[in-house]
Amino acid sequence: MAGEPQDDCLFCKLVAGTVPATIVRESDTTVAFRDINPQAPTHILVIPKAHYENAASLATGAPELAADVLRETQAVADDEKLESYRTIFNTGSGAGQTIWHAHAHVLGGRGLEWPPG
Ligand code: 5GP
Ligand code: ZN
Repeated sequence: MAGEPQDDCLFCKLVAGTVPATIVRESDTTVAFRDINPQAPTHILVIPKAHYENAASLATGAPELAADVLRETQAVADDEKLESYRTIFNTGSGAGQTIWHAHAHVLGGRGLEWPPG
């Protein structure tokens, strides 16, 4: 069922505390932690605690939770003292999605090219 924890999901395990992570922020509905393979000086993932497979299914199934995630990206940027940053949601393997639990990448701390690759 949408939103329910999935046994085979790494990020559900991280939310449950059975997989370690460097958590930088937590709210009632979200967790933010450092990416294990950072692509910028600041590379933090913000996830909903509930399981939705991508950003659009999150927005459809739980719009307030999608808003919580977006709000937390700004809080992360403030904590990291980033004036500029990029928020990315990869959707589909062709776009680089490897984990099927919605997550916002927050990237900053270096110049960010536009358009991105
Ligand atoms: P995606 O490629 O699905 O958009 O993003 C998944 C991200 O999760 C990647 O940037 C990857 O480095 C990160 N990641 C994968 N496994 C782990 C892990 O065990 N811990 C943490 N903190 N990040 C992970
Ligand atoms: Zn999950």
